[in-house]
Amino acid sequence: MQMTVSASSLHPRATQLVDEFTAWRHHLHAHPETAFEEKLTSAFVAEKLQSFGLEVKTGIARTGVVATLQGKGGPGKRIGLRADMDALDIHETTNLPYASKHPGKMHACGHDGHMTMLLGAAKILAENPDFTGTVDFIFQPAEENEGGGREMVEEGLFDSHPADAVYGMHNWPGRDVGTMAMKPGPMMASYDIFEIAIEGRGCHAAMPHLGRDPITAAGQVLLALQTIPARNVNPLQSAVISPTQIFAGDTWNVIPDTATIRGTVRTFAPDIQDLVEDRLKTVADATARAFDCTARVMYQRRYPATINSEAETAIAFAAASRVVGADQIDQNPEPSMASEDFAFMLNAKPGSYVWLGNGPTDGNCLLHNAAYDFNDDAIPYGVSYWISLVEECLSV
Ligand SMILES: [Zn+2]
Ligand SMILES: [Zn+2]
Repeated sequence: MQMTVSASSLHPRATQLVDEFTAWRHHLHAHPETAFEEKLTSAFVAEKLQSFGLEVKTGIARTGVVATLQGKGGPGKRIGLRADMDALDIHETTNLPYASKHPGKMHACGHDGHMTMLLGAAKILAENPDFTGTVDFIFQPAEENEGGGREMVEEGLFDSHPADAVYGMHNWPGRDVGTMAMKPGPMMASYDIFEIAIEGRGCHAAMPHLGRDPITAAGQVLLALQTIPARNVNPLQSAVISPTQIFAGDTWNVIPDTATIRGTVRTFAPDIQDLVEDRLKTVADATARAFDCTARVMYQRRYPATINSEAETAIAFAAASRVVGADQIDQNPEPSMASEDFAFMLNAKPGSYVWLGNGPTDGNCLLHNAAYDFNDDAIPYGVSYWISLVEECLSV
């Protein structure tokens, strides 16, 4: 009996059109725009999608764009493929010929590459929509911090475009071009923020007994917070509490009235997120009171964890296998403690979020670094994956 070898290959059109796609990527890279200000970007995306003959809807979550393509096989399942459009507030240091023309703004997370790969797939699929069902190409604003994905869902993205499943992809520096990674369950952590305002009573620094020192209380709160991941969370689960800002006092000889601690919490499991929020509030309050101060806690859940569903991840794996080969797919990647607002779409619909190898991290080519540049060699792989996914989900 002959062994079945999983044949891997790039889509021939993705290879033929790579120069055109690379030119789009460089144009987008040179014109980065940040959260909800992606006006030039969304106009570029919409114009391209219209030129492919797709039905295009703009202005979802302010600058979001969705294009719809019907397969020539008639009605069937409907899937959403999503790319993010926003850049970061970073001043680019690459000196590339297509470096950012917008000072202080930069595509340092590769969303220029994400848009390019989804546009490339839309172009090729529109040339020959040989599938049964419907594909929505979703271009979302404000992935970094501001929750454009959430706004799209809240504005009724899945009412106007009722997908049965959604798929996302992020480039991953440090993984080789021509490799991918995915697994069911958590891929990225939740993203919560907190502010603990500790109130005491200010006084002369030489007479601390006359006041209630919020700085000493803040120091104790800071240490006590780390007992939550260490003593309350099951050691086989994950949680990070990172205080990132402390504000207190104005001068040498005055104990101030207040001290403020801000930071972020990352978890994967919703019950651990609940536990950490609850314990953080209790620890802050009780520790502050032990020092005769009070604590006001603001805790805000910004992004949920990005959790892949089982069936759709199997489909994503099959689609990726046909492009890069099963042996080039990491099926058990370590999840990232970073977060991703595609999580809001995955909370609304089953789906899968995968990582695409972006090559070496030489010269600080790391996500969110001023020296980062999306690797154009990855473009044909990403384009081919999207097309393969449509074939896998919507085959006639
Ligand atoms: Zn990012
Ligand atoms: Zn990103």
